[in-house]
Amino acid sequence: MTTGTMALPQVLSPGRLFIGGEWVDAASGRTFAVVNPAKAEKLTEVAEGDAADVDRAVEAARLAFDSGAWPGLPPRKRARILWDMARLLEERKDEVARVETLQNGKPLFESGIDVDMTVETFEYYAGWATKIEGETIPLSVPNQFGYTLREPVGVVGAIVPWNFPLNLASWKVAPALAAGCTVVLKPASETPLTALLLAQIAADAGLPAGALNVVPGGGRTAGEALVKHADVDKIAFTGSTAVGKRIAGLAAETVKRVSLELGGKSANIVFADADLKLAARGAVGGIFYGKGEVCAAGSRLLVESAAHDELVPAVAAGAGKMTVGDPFEKTTRIGAIVSEKQMEAVLGYIETGKREGATVVAGGARVAELEPGYFVQPTVFDGVTPEMTIAREEIFGPVLATLTFDDVDEAIARANDSPYGLAAAVWTRDIKKAHYVASRLKAGTVWINTYNLYDAAMPFGGYKQSGYGRDLGKHALDNYTETKAVWVDLRQ
Ligand code: NAD
Repeated sequence: MTTGTMALPQVLSPGRLFIGGEWVDAASGRTFAVVNPAKAEKLTEVAEGDAADVDRAVEAARLAFDSGAWPGLPPRKRARILWDMARLLEERKDEVARVETLQNGKPLFESGIDVDMTVETFEYYAGWATKIEGETIPLSVPNQFGYTLREPVGVVGAIVPWNFPLNLASWKVAPALAAGCTVVLKPASETPLTALLLAQIAADAGLPAGALNVVPGGGRTAGEALVKHADVDKIAFTGSTAVGKRIAGLAAETVKRVSLELGGKSANIVFADADLKLAARGAVGGIFYGKGEVCAAGSRLLVESAAHDELVPAVAAGAGKMTVGDPFEKTTRIGAIVSEKQMEAVLGYIETGKREGATVVAGGARVAELEPGYFVQPTVFDGVTPEMTIAREEIFGPVLATLTFDDVDEAIARANDSPYGLAAAVWTRDIKKAHYVASRLKAGTVWINTYNLYDAAMPFGGYKQSGYGRDLGKHALDNYTETKAVWVDLRQ
C-alpha cells in the first residue's frame, strides 16, 4: 500500500472549524484524530467542535441570513456562485477524491464518481436558484387576490454520515443555498475532511461569510447542540434510523422543520424470467458498491425459487471475483470498511448469520493479509429465512442475504416485510410484472432491471422508518422553503 501516500492539503493539516468565513480552533482547544481505515493509521487532527462552537456558527449563519448577505443577493448571483463552486470542485477533483478515499477507505474510482455527482448537484441547484416561484391562487372569496411567496426557511443545520461524506453534504447544502438559506454543516467525525475542502471551495467561489459554516465534532455534542439550537430553523439529517428518531424528538421541542434520510434493508427481487446474467451482475453491484456502506444497498436478494440454482452461484462467483485491497489501486473494487468499530459490527453480523443457520457461499471473514487495515471479504449468505437477524437488520457492510419466493405476491410481501422502505429493485423481462411490482413496493426508489442509479434531478428518500422528506430533484427545495400566503383586498 503505497499509492495513497500524499501530503494532505494545507487546510487539513490540522483541520479547523470554518465559521463566519474564517478558519478557527474549537473554543475548547480540543482536537480529534481522523484515521485512514486502509492502514489503521492517523491521517491528521481536526478541531473538535462542541456546543460553544455550534453557537458561534449558528450566530454567523443567522447574521448572513438576517442581514440579507446571502438570501438578499439577486437569484442570478446566487446561481453564479453555486455554479462556480461546481467548477472549482471539478478543477480540484483529483485532490478531493484522494482525500475522500484516504478518510473513508473507498476505492479511488468511487471517490471520483462521488465528486462528479457533487459537481452535478451544485450545477443542478444553481439552475434552480432563479426558478423558485410562488403561485397565484384562484380564490372563491370575492374581490380578493391571492398569491404565494416561497421564502427560504432560514438557518439550516445539516448533519451527514461518513459513507458519502462530500456527496451527501451537497444533497443538503446545494438546495439549501439555492433557496437562500444559510447552513451549518456537521460532517461525521470519521470523515470531516472533504466537508472542510468544500468550505474552502465555497469561500473561493465568493460565497459570503457565514452562508456555509462547517463544524466537525461528535454527534452527541456538536450534533445535538445544532438540533436543539433555538436559532436553527431546520435540520436536514442523513444517518441511522436510531439517531434520526432521537433527532426528531429533540427537534420537536422548538418545532423545527426536519427531514430525515435514514437506514435501509433494500430488496433486490429477481424473477426467473429475468436476464439472469444481468441480474447477477446487478445483485453484486447492488450490495458491494461502496463496500455495502450504502443506505440503498440491495442487501436482501429475493430470488424466485426456479432461478435460485442458476442465480446464486453466479452471484457468489461475482463476489469472489471482486478485488479487495488498497483503495488507491486501479484494480480494487472493494476498499476498507470505514472504521474498526464498523468492521467489528459487520463481522459480528457475519457470525450471527452463521450461528442462526444461514450458509456462507462467498467470503465470510476479515481479510487477514490486509491487516491492520479494516477489510472484510464480500460475503454472500444463502438459505436465509425472513426471521433471521441478517434478513432484518441493516448491516451496512459487504454482506448479502439471499431468500427465496415462489410467486409475485410472495415477492412483494417479503420485500415489504421490513420496517425500512428506502429502495428496491425488480428484475424481469415481463414489463407488466415489473410495473405492477414497482407500484406495490413500499420504497422511495424502485429500480427496474438496474440498481444504484442516481441523478440530481431524481428525488431520493424513504418510506416508513427510512425517513421522510426527499433529497435531490425539485422536491428537495420544499425542505428549504416556507410558503407564505398573501391576500390583497381589491374592493373599490
Ligand atoms: P449515524 O446516525 O451514527 O451518524 C450520522 C451523523 O449524525 C453523524 O454526523 C453523527 O455524528 C451524527 N449524530 C450521531 N448522533 C447524533 C445525535 N444524537 N444528534 C445529532 N447528530 C448525531 O450514522 P452513520 O453511522 O454515520 O451512517 C450510517 C447510517 O446512515 C446508516 O444507517 C445508513 O443507512 C444511513 N444513511 C442513509 C442515507 C439515506 O439517504 N437514507 C444515506 C447514507 C447513509
